[in-house]
Amino acid sequence: VKLSSLGEFGLIDRLRRRTTPSPLAVRGIGDDCAQHRLPPDEELLTTMDLLLEGVHFRRDWTDLEHLGRKSVAVNVSDIAAMGGTPRFLYLGLGLPATATVEEVDAFAAGALAEAERYGVALAGGDTCRSASGWVIAVTVEGSAPAGQAVGRDGARPGDIVCVSGSLGDSALVLQRLQRNESMSSPLAQRHHAPPARVALGRALAQAGLATAMIDLSDGFAADLGHILEQSGCGAEVELDQLPLSAAFRAAGGTVELAVTGGEDYELLFTLPAARQGELSGLAQRLNLPLTPVGRIVAAPGLQLLAADGRRALPQGGFNHFG
Ligand code: ADP
Ligand code: MG
Repeated sequence: VKLSSLGEFGLIDRLRRRTTPSPLAVRGIGDDCAQHRLPPDEELLTTMDLLLEGVHFRRDWTDLEHLGRKSVAVNVSDIAAMGGTPRFLYLGLGLPATATVEEVDAFAAGALAEAERYGVALAGGDTCRSASGWVIAVTVEGSAPAGQAVGRDGARPGDIVCVSGSLGDSALVLQRLQRNESMSSPLAQRHHAPPARVALGRALAQAGLATAMIDLSDGFAADLGHILEQSGCGAEVELDQLPLSAAFRAAGGTVELAVTGGEDYELLFTLPAARQGELSGLAQRLNLPLTPVGRIVAAPGLQLLAADGRRALPQGGFNHFG
């Protein structure tokens, strides 16, 4: 069915009818702005991501429902990485003239399912025609009690570097897609429907446990690099400590891919060494592995250490990340 049969306002109405407004909403979809209350003494967190057809995704590698899911999850992941609670979702859609109602429905079904999973309410957006390809702009707002949000700048020498879940799964799936090979479903899910670690981020912020935190979108080495740069320190990481999934190993995934591959959407955080003992209880409570992989040092730069403690790569290895 052609989109023109619905029109812009028919389409917006279709989205609104599938949406449950946030309990914090004063005004949701339909006015000039969304209007919300925040819980008392909470600070607003806002993040947005742009997904462009041909740049960030290919229609032949992903279906629209998964694209909808992922576009919401990657934004929710940024709220998680600050230790916040995700609350409001805004959806900007640039749609090519060839897009159909069924396609928009599939995208919306994925986006709204993921929104529901994380307790985020669709509260607004913008809809227009794109001259070429799908353009998706997603904004998520969340909040955290004043003073609790965790930045990238708080890591200190002596802190432990820790990562949730496993590394490299998503990159391995992408590598196979690029070679026109398909992957078995549990691993494929890690690429097409990555998790956002909201409960972990909240728990770390609430306990004041994380000194710095980031979600893994660019890859472990690159994202740890962002923490190091903003915190003004360096790190030593033991490669044999990196958490690799059984499926990743079985499919031939390498440590190098785990270090450089992107889009894991796990949380990478630092914590004071004196509090490392709190990790196992938290991991158990959340049913999510939390693995110490190294430590923060004063000397700038990222040192990757092999099992024998020797430097695994010449300094400046992985410098294609700048
Ligand atoms: P304006 O002209 O003020 O930008 P619009 O006509 O674009 O308003 O939008 C009308 C209402 O519909 C607004 O509340 C807007 O947030 C909402 N809206 C528009 N597009 C979307 C969308 N893709 N998803 C959710 N809400 C949308
Ligand atoms: Mg508008």
